[in-house]
Amino acid sequence: MDIKKRIGIMGGTFNPIHLGHLIVAENAYEELNLDEVLFVPSGNPYMKDYVDVLDAKTRIDLVGEAIDDNHHFAMSTIEVDRDGNSYSYETIASLKQANPDTEYFFMVGADSLFMMEKWMCPEKIFSEVTVAVASRGGVDQEKMLEQVAYLEEKYNTKIVVLHSRAVEISSTQIRERVRKGQSIRYMVRYKTEQVIRKKGLYLD
Ligand code: ATP
Ligand code: MG
Repeated sequence: MDIKKRIGIMGGTFNPIHLGHLIVAENAYEELNLDEVLFVPSGNPYMKDYVDVLDAKTRIDLVGEAIDDNHHFAMSTIEVDRDGNSYSYETIASLKQANPDTEYFFMVGADSLFMMEKWMCPEKIFSEVTVAVASRGGVDQEKMLEQVAYLEEKYNTKIVVLHSRAVEISSTQIRERVRKGQSIRYMVRYKTEQVIRKKGLYLD
């Protein structure tokens, strides 16, 4: 039978991976009826302030550990393995080329929906995959829906709005809390916190 595999792409810096990412991914898995969610940590984050971003190897290790007990979560190091910038449209093109029988969904948090037009070739993202957006604390729901409508019209596409509410956690908040000596318990997985503490990550 000709049934396409359905895979959700969860891209991010994952600096570090936190429960917000995992919850969005699990919600999307259910709501979009996916076969798998593929976490894709970015290599050189061309839009981020470099100073604060851990090396790719450490971020990858943290993602790997955080997802290893969920059999429908997987990771691709495609962006880290590539030299230079990580552009989502290139990642999508490579994945689709390697797996022509797969239908891809591209998950973003509401904040990213406002950034996407500044990304490289957004039209290629909207035409190649179904973008699915998750609400995020700090982004007004109505504004998000306006942005969805705007992008749908402009790029002649359909964006899926995920219904489940994600928790209000960000990597920025986690890095700040570590620096200040505050607790990050229940924001990241226990094993993630252990590595952060043991290696003294984000302290300087
Ligand atoms: P930073 O604060 O460093 O930007 P972040 O928490 O936003 O980190 P990213 O790695 O930048 O994490 O995010 C990857 C993707 O996950 C983005 O599309 C982002 O919008 C989404 N995301 C991250 N955290 C959440 C959350 N709590 N709820 C919904 N979406 C989220
Ligand atoms: Mg972010």
